[in-house]
Amino acid sequence: MKRTKLIPALLALAVLSGCGNSISENTGEPAATLQEQQTVSQKHTESTPDEPEVTKQTTTSAPAEPEPETTTTKKKAKKKKTQKTKADKNAPGNVHFMVNTSSDSTTLTWDGVEGAEGYSVSVKKGKNAEWEELAVTEDTQCTVDVGFNKKYSFSVRAFVTRDGKKAYSAVNELKFPYLYQKDGITYVDGMMIVNKTYPLPADYGCGLTEDTEQAFYELSQGAANDGISLWITSGFRSYDEQNWTYWGYVERDGSTESADHYSARAGHSEHQSGYAMDLNFAGMAFNGTPEAQWIEENCFKYGFILRYPEGKEDKTGYNYESWHIRYVGLDRAKRLHDSGLTVEEFYGLTSEYSD
Ligand SMILES: [Zn+2]
Repeated sequence: MKRTKLIPALLALAVLSGCGNSISENTGEPAATLQEQQTVSQKHTESTPDEPEVTKQTTTSAPAEPEPETTTTKKKAKKKKTQKTKADKNAPGNVHFMVNTSSDSTTLTWDGVEGAEGYSVSVKKGKNAEWEELAVTEDTQCTVDVGFNKKYSFSVRAFVTRDGKKAYSAVNELKFPYLYQKDGITYVDGMMIVNKTYPLPADYGCGLTEDTEQAFYELSQGAANDGISLWITSGFRSYDEQNWTYWGYVERDGSTESADHYSARAGHSEHQSGYAMDLNFAGMAFNGTPEAQWIEENCFKYGFILRYPEGKEDKTGYNYESWHIRYVGLDRAKRLHDSGLTVEEFYGLTSEYSD
């Protein structure tokens, strides 16, 4: 009898400790309100000026009208374009939105704007390209068949019809790599990022995510089919556990400088995210084993990446770890694998402690 009463209490605890957060996507994307997203990301830029370029939703030029034919109309169009850098006089408020891409489609979500009749979604395929309208919708979400491309920008505008003409809000441009923060957690391209630059809140996390566990199950099955046996040595580690682990190494080595090459400070460990794990014999002796080789060649097929590859310490902030993998989802894992780049290189991020 008492046991059944315990369950709701435990659930409540789980919610408080971060496990009940509304994570809407399998690699840690929050159901962020976009107003919040923009505000936080701007604050973030101000407080740490040395950081990589942070995505801002910049309110700039409007999506272009179709190219006019004659010089006179061209001049007129130019004038029109300049006027459109700001919102039309009667237009509704600006739209703050979020982008999530896969290899063949992009989903944009935003908060409804008061008084808007509908929304126009546009893409700019390259820095100097013209804006192309992709869709007009009354919904506050839209999936378009424009896949992942580092050079693309997206925009969502709200409109109302006045005197038979559409009045648009200003362009809110969202450029790659979509870096933003919510509740003290940083996301890039819809994926949670944890490294020396980007920590997690101390109370975040309570275990491996379901998707990560499922993906590992499939990974280990795939490995077994090739005669390779894989198991998890260390999955989730809480802030406190990481604190003990890190300071244990510092004490053993006699300096933080030495430990920082291979152990994360509390809050900076990917193990706290619930998406990372160490496999088999987590240690240098594992490098070069058939198991390590199998992981390196195949883990992307199950949505994992080798997070700290060989020769990339200056990028990731850590020594080569052939046993540490991170779940990022199938699409991102393939993209990252095909690029041959680390997460930091691919998204243009740093991994450095601020002190
Ligand atoms: Zn690890």
